Amino acid sequence: MAIKLSFLGGNNYSRIGANTHLYEEIRNGQVNNRFLIDFGALFFNDGSKDLKIMPDIIKYLDYCPTKKERGNPLFKYFRKEKEKLALLEKHTSLDAIFLTHIHEDHIGGLVQLLKAGFLLPPIFASKETLAVLGRLLIEQNVPELPELIPINGQVHLNKGLIITPFQVSHTAVGSFGYHILNKDADGNETGILEMGDYNFSDTLLSEKTPLPDFLKDKVVFAVLLDSTSTSNETISPLSFQTATQNYASCMKNHDGRIISATISRSLENMASILTAAKETGRKVFIDGFMQRLVYDELQKQNKLDLFAGTVFNHDEVSKADIKTFLSATPFNKQVIILSGAFAEGFIHKGNTHQAGLVRLANGSHTGFKVSPSDLILLGQRAIPVEGILEDMQKMAQKLGALNNNKVIQNETASAFSLGNFKMMPLQRTGHATKEETKELVNLILKARTNKEEPLTLLPVHGDEKQLEATKNIGKELGVQTVILMNNESVTLENGSFIKAPDTPAPYYLCIQEEENTGKTNTFFKLFLSEFKKEENGKISFIPKEMLLNKSLEIIENKEKNKLIHFQRLALQKRERC
Ligand SMILES: [Zn+2]
Repeated sequence: MAIKLSFLGGNNYSRIGANTHLYEEIRNGQVNNRFLIDFGALFFNDGSKDLKIMPDIIKYLDYCPTKKERGNPLFKYFRKEKEKLALLEKHTSLDAIFLTHIHEDHIGGLVQLLKAGFLLPPIFASKETLAVLGRLLIEQNVPELPELIPINGQVHLNKGLIITPFQVSHTAVGSFGYHILNKDADGNETGILEMGDYNFSDTLLSEKTPLPDFLKDKVVFAVLLDSTSTSNETISPLSFQTATQNYASCMKNHDGRIISATISRSLENMASILTAAKETGRKVFIDGFMQRLVYDELQKQNKLDLFAGTVFNHDEVSKADIKTFLSATPFNKQVIILSGAFAEGFIHKGNTHQAGLVRLANGSHTGFKVSPSDLILLGQRAIPVEGILEDMQKMAQKLGALNNNKVIQNETASAFSLGNFKMMPLQRTGHATKEETKELVNLILKARTNKEEPLTLLPVHGDEKQLEATKNIGKELGVQTVILMNNESVTLENGSFIKAPDTPAPYYLCIQEEENTGKTNTFFKLFLSEFKKEENGKISFIPKEMLLNKSLEIIENKEKNKLIHFQRLALQKRERC
């Protein structure tokens, strides 16, 4: 009995996103159980509206087409993929999806496939993650909701396959890591630790499993290590608490309104602003749709009682109105939190796709305008992803032009500059720094009862440079590290570790959502695409034009009848084949 682990996404040469790990339990040469940990989308910012990119898992999904449905091009593709796989293996479907947390690069693919009408297996995660996911799926008009199963203890996929969640510190509330254990009839055990996105800071809202206790009785042959922050020596390992103090000092020393932005699903970061506001007697208006949704859902779980009276209209946060807030609250007691930490939608012309902070920079926010006395706190670390950094810089400069550059940018002098602004550590990165990664590996080594047992580090969630940086940590600590890129696999059995020899080019499924007409259904186009390795060794994503030229188009969005039919299919309850 063995576990095969394949990286479908996450290790992306030059981009962050699409974290998707496929686990297969192999028994007598056949796949006995198959599940995913996370199913994310890739961050993509080339101006193409609503183009979502994710690993292609269609061949692992169940479907039962009727005679009529077999003529649909989508199902033709579906069946072809399935048949191809059936030639090689008996069991071809996906049994479960486990989610580490709610960020787009870990769940975005799942949301897109559900929106396009696919059926997915049961989804397991923390109650916080599933509360937000469930609401998000309803808001997105997903035709058929999968089974959402909150867990706080072991899940047995069969007698010998046990998945145990543990709570980790990250910027999203309710973030999990997982321990995967496979035990054969002779009692031989194979264990893998999936850390998910994590850091070692104390959290403000989430619970955290003490790792030394958790690791005590766990077999760990391989550990998947979040590498996003291991290559940058300048990223501060400050705590959420220190970030909170820095926000509080900005609020205390400024006699005027505060405007800030956070990533919508990173409630631990937003909690720094809320706590600082509470300490300094300010009232907060949460403007962003997703931020309100996340706040609203976790408020129902009594996670946010401490902010009662600080967040404006906290009982009905989703209905709160900014104009009432502005007229009911003195200027120097106001904090407004908007969406747009990454300048999302800056390149789009229409207002619909622009985040709140972008609209504020453009003067097109319908609720209020920047006043010259406002202080703007840009707490999000600028990231060097093409398109995103540029947009963040342009947005920051436009905002600065409206209030005489009273803007404070996150981080230290070595951070990517957004303009000639003051800098201050305002954000705890969600990911482990180099020192924290070392601390984790040492904890695992210390917890081992059999010191001779092999341990392999598998760097994940990063570009080539970041994965390499994690490998160097392994070297420093004398632990074997294997770098796998997308679509590469390893098999683990009784401590032995075999890398699959074939390395096919990573390919992706792309879904483009057409504008909703307001009356009828939303239309979807599906494409297949791939990463290309260029002669200089660099890997880049195929630009949209090439993507469209080389793609296999499965659904023609202009044939409305076909699409309405497709939507109807998705609404029908289907038996598993
Ligand atoms: Zn994350």
